[in-house]
Amino acid sequence: MKAVKNSRLVYSTATGRICPQCGRPVAACTCPSKKKSKAGKQTAAYPKDGTIRIQREIKGRKGKTVTAIFGVPLADKELQQFAKTLKQRCGAGGSVKDGVIIIQGDHRQTVLTEIKKQGYSAKLAGG
Ligand SMILES: [Zn+2]
Repeated sequence: MKAVKNSRLVYSTATGRICPQCGRPVAACTCPSKKKSKAGKQTAAYPKDGTIRIQREIKGRKGKTVTAIFGVPLADKELQQFAKTLKQRCGAGGSVKDGVIIIQGDHRQTVLTEIKKQGYSAKLAGG
């Protein structure tokens, strides 16, 4: 069965790089994207220093822009109320997920102004 051996050899050289996670050729790799896309993961990257971080994020395959607000020092119920206020200010929809407020669209300046107006320390972060 020389042919099989040969075809395997051709296979491995022709496909080039191998994915370190699944061991398959990169072209045939089915691993989930390594790009950071989950807001929850990024929350941990910010220190809990009482400063609210406002960050623009691109969500999903269609590249929808959202404004993510991290580190709001409020309990769940108050956080929901706070999110509601921000959504009204921005005139946009949104949600609260894992303690992070998400507002549809890029409203960083509006959010920053409103948060500061309410007496919190806040700054723009990331891209
Ligand atoms: Zn892979």
